[in-house]
Amino acid sequence: MAGLGEFDFIRDRLRPLSEDDPAALDLADDAALLAPEPGEEIVLACDTLIAGVHFLDTDSPEVVASRALRSNLSDLAAMGAVPRAYLAAIAWPVTLDPDWRADFTRSLHREQSRFGLTLIGGDTTATPGPLTLSFTLIGRVPAGSALRRSGARIGDDVWVSGMIGDAGLGLRVASGSGGEGISACRRAYERPEPRLALGQALRDLASAAIDVSDGLLADAGHLASASGCALRIKVDAVPRSASAQAWLARGGEVEALLTSGDDYELLFTAPPDRRTALDGVSARLDLVLTRIGVVTDGSGVAAERADGSQLVPTRTGFTHF
Ligand SMILES: [Mg+2]
Repeated sequence: MAGLGEFDFIRDRLRPLSEDDPAALDLADDAALLAPEPGEEIVLACDTLIAGVHFLDTDSPEVVASRALRSNLSDLAAMGAVPRAYLAAIAWPVTLDPDWRADFTRSLHREQSRFGLTLIGGDTTATPGPLTLSFTLIGRVPAGSALRRSGARIGDDVWVSGMIGDAGLGLRVASGSGGEGISACRRAYERPEPRLALGQALRDLASAAIDVSDGLLADAGHLASASGCALRIKVDAVPRSASAQAWLARGGEVEALLTSGDDYELLFTAPPDRRTALDGVSARLDLVLTRIGVVTDGSGVAAERADGSQLVPTRTGFTHF
C-alpha cells in the first residue's frame, strides 16, 4: 500500500477501533478470543461489499463505512441479536488515496460507537481490483431465542417495519439517475437504520423474520420457502413515504418500490393474537409497523393489487449472479 505500511496502518488506524476490548488482544495476535456469556448463543453474519456492485464508486468514505456496517447489522437485527463486535477484511485498491482510507476508518469508528461495537480482528490487503469490504458481525441472543426465517405458520399476519422503497429511490438520487422530488430518500440509501431494537423485541412475538435487503418481494419469497408456506401481500398496504407516494403520483411504478432492495427493514410474521402487543412495540420504539398480508397454504409470494389483480414483477429483487 502507498503511504502507511500495513502494520503501521493497523496500529495507527485500526487498533483504536478495538477500544481496548480484551477480545481483540490489541489486534496483535493471530486471532480474536471471545468468551461467550453463559446461557447465550453467538450469532454470526458475514457480508461482502464491492465498489461498483454494492455501493457507488462515487460514494463518500462516510457512506461506505455506514453501509458496510449497517447492512451487516441488519442481518443481526433479523435474528433478534444484540451486536457485540466485528471483524473487518478490507482489500484497498492500490490506487486509493490514503486520505480516503483515513476518512473511512474515522467514519467506521463513529459508526461502530453508535451501535456499541468494537473491532476485534480482520485483515487488510492491497488489490489491483475494486475496493472490497468483508465484515463479519458477531452478536448474541439468549440460547434458543433467535428469530428464524422458517417459523411462519398458516394464518399468521405478515408485517413490515418502516417504509419500503425509499432506499431504492435514494440510490437513484445518489447515482444521479432521476432524483427529482425524491432527494429526501437519499438518506435511506446512505444511512439505513438496522432495526436492532425491533428484532430483539420480536424474539417473543414473531414466528419468523428476515431483513429486507434484496427487495420486499424477493425477501418475502425467501421467508416463504424457508417456512414451507405462501405469503399473500396486499400491494396497497405496503407502507411508503410521502416522497415515494409523490413519486408514484408522477408515474413511478409501484413494482420498483417492492423490488429495489436495501431497505433494511424487518419483514416478519406473527399470529393474529400478537397484534396488540406489536402495536405496543411500535409505540414504544416510535417505529411504524404495518400488517401487509397473511401466511397461507402453498408456496411463493402473491402480490395483490386493490382490484384483485396480481402484480407479477419482471424482476423480484437483487440477485448476485
Ligand atoms: Mg439478511
